[in-house]
Amino acid sequence: MATKKDNNAAQDAAAKALAAVQAKKSAEKAKVQHNITHVEQQTVGKTELLAVTRKNAMPYRVAAIILWILAIAFEVLAILFFKKVIKWDFALKNPGYYISWIVCIVLDFICVMVGSLLWKKANHLDPASAKNKTKFWLHNNLGVIVAVIAFAPFIIFVLTDKKADKQSKTIATVIAAVLIIAAVLVGIDWNPVSQEQMLEEAGIDTGAVYEHVYWTKGGKVYHLYEDCGHLNNSSDLLEGTSQAAVENGKTRMCQDCYSRGVKEGLIIEENNDDKIETPTDEVVPVE
Ligand SMILES: [Zn+2]
Repeated sequence: MATKKDNNAAQDAAAKALAAVQAKKSAEKAKVQHNITHVEQQTVGKTELLAVTRKNAMPYRVAAIILWILAIAFEVLAILFFKKVIKWDFALKNPGYYISWIVCIVLDFICVMVGSLLWKKANHLDPASAKNKTKFWLHNNLGVIVAVIAFAPFIIFVLTDKKADKQSKTIATVIAAVLIIAAVLVGIDWNPVSQEQMLEEAGIDTGAVYEHVYWTKGGKVYHLYEDCGHLNNSSDLLEGTSQAAVENGKTRMCQDCYSRGVKEGLIIEENNDDKIETPTDEVVPVE
């Protein structure tokens, strides 16, 4: 009898321990519990997909170009006010003289800056091909060129103005110089995405699209793993193929998921691919 009782006690303890482990497991699971909504893939293949990314980016590109045109219009106004070409009483006397061209040059800056941010967003939704390096740089940093066009002529007009007094010339030059530097910095895309990178990461070039990736509505990237740490704070996830993620504006894979994917053998890096497919290693360029 005693042994049976002991057995029962041991069984109870084991059951309790098991229950504790299960409770702990489900608690951990609850921490990263997501509401997942499946998103259907709309396109097949590269050409169709690129048409979608182009369409996604179009409103941002159009808005950026309109803002940049406005910026240059404000610059022209600033020059006309500075040179007192516009015969408006308010703008001919101080402080109206200063206010008129300073307001115009600041509005010029705001339009350039917002335009550049929208342009960069468009490039991340619809990356340019990196085959031509110069073209790729220009495409990604168009905001830099616009920044120069939107301020350099103003500075030249100010410096070559023979009628304006020294003080207003100095103030105008300093303001425009600070704004041109800020606009150039905003215009640079520090982390550009290429079309090739986008297609390769999503497996679209090789036809090996990932079946299940996860992303959030506001996020910029998609994740290979539902339990990726970056998703811990998001309760609502969208799920679909990597091509569906790209269709929805998530043109890059999360870097942590990428590293983990390589480590776990889910992602085979391009270099390794070459080695597998090319029987002679000599022809593979080693970097
Ligand atoms: Zn991730």
